[in-house]
Amino acid sequence: MKTFNKVIASSVIAGLFLSSLPTASPLQTKTAEAAATCKASSKPKNFIFMIGDGMGPSFNSAYRYMQDKPQTKELDKVSFDSYLLGGQRTIAEDDHQNITDSASAATAMSAGVKTYNNAIAVDNDKTPVKTVLEQAKTVDKSTGLVATSEVTHATPAAYGAHDESRKNMPAIADDYFDEMIKGQHKVDIILGGGKDYFKRDDRNLIKEFKNDGYKYVNNKKGLLKAASNSKDKQILGLFSPGGMPKMIDRDANMPSLKQMTSTAIKKLSKDKDGFFLMVEGSQIDWAGHANDVTGAMSEMRDFDLAFQEAIKFAKTDCNTLVIATADHSTGGLSMGARGEYNFLVEPIKQMKHTPEYLRAQMMKDGADIDKIIKDNIGFELTADEVKAIKDAVTSKKAAAIEDAIERPVDTRSFTGWTTGGHTGEDVNVYGYGPGSDLWRGNMDNTDNAKRIFKFLK
Ligand SMILES: [Zn+2]
Repeated sequence: MKTFNKVIASSVIAGLFLSSLPTASPLQTKTAEAAATCKASSKPKNFIFMIGDGMGPSFNSAYRYMQDKPQTKELDKVSFDSYLLGGQRTIAEDDHQNITDSASAATAMSAGVKTYNNAIAVDNDKTPVKTVLEQAKTVDKSTGLVATSEVTHATPAAYGAHDESRKNMPAIADDYFDEMIKGQHKVDIILGGGKDYFKRDDRNLIKEFKNDGYKYVNNKKGLLKAASNSKDKQILGLFSPGGMPKMIDRDANMPSLKQMTSTAIKKLSKDKDGFFLMVEGSQIDWAGHANDVTGAMSEMRDFDLAFQEAIKFAKTDCNTLVIATADHSTGGLSMGARGEYNFLVEPIKQMKHTPEYLRAQMMKDGADIDKIIKDNIGFELTADEVKAIKDAVTSKKAAAIEDAIERPVDTRSFTGWTTGGHTGEDVNVYGYGPGSDLWRGNMDNTDNAKRIFKFLK
């Protein structure tokens, strides 16, 4: 009954919000409040560009249901809702595909150029194209890249490197060090996963960065210490060999995206010339590829908290433009499946870890499968569901095990998926601060870079 009321309430809210947009939306009220305390300015000095990788609109909507407080009658708003500006088109101009990958979409957003899938800040002729991060460095701003994937992964790479293929992650790490602008390394704060691409048999970039004055950190404690030490101006933080664990699976040594973002802002904002920071919630997409709603919602939370951190800074600073968007959607996530008019988040909330994490536990020698299920899945599985998991573990096929763990969650929550790949719908654009009015309405993904370049002249 409660759920039914909420569904009705949410559609009423959506209707009200849309009809009130042209006049006095909650967004404009907020902007007016900020204008009262901040000096109005049309040109931002600082830029925080945030990308929820794979964060299609259904991820934003599903996340709202996840965050809803059961004791309130209406569907509660999430932080993003107050900053919705419009939508962007993500269509690829690849010879063979019109749905974008992360590399091509990030190049559109970083350089304003449509290119082929796999391209890291190079055009269709494989010629390097200048990125907004590079332009920011050229006009003496400080720069940062923060991600929960390898920090050499497609999205951050398209801001700080150039390569004909996203797969060349060692070469991308080299670019962060070797491609100098005005005699300086072009990225001042580098935080994320992917240590294996910096410390290799052929080269140790961690040592090279340290020799050039960067503080190197590899855990949360080290990061927070560097954050509060004013001597540490440039930081290389690599917290895992590959991608970082998802938020729901992290231990106490692993920083959150919020902590990485706040550290980056703290350091970069010391520059009187301003800064450009790209922050990626990298693994919303990875969970989408795996059709894992638990992981997707975990990564939405991580990204949301980082977004709130950026907004908090922008509201006190008044010279900072924050834009948060996605590069594409992933997985074809739907709220509701199999003809059922319900999307029920309780089973998702009852998962203590992602299927990926549980699969790793189950594949260990002598693992007690029943105990792992009992300790981590907060709802009762049917005998058939338990058997499916055990059969998959016996088969030793990782994807099959994860699938068997995920399916009961999808079944009970009425979560739908249509693909293991990307999907082409428009994605939401959120923003705040001077210049954010330019992002209103429906835009192309290349407009992001074009507008930021104008501010960086
Ligand atoms: Zn992507």
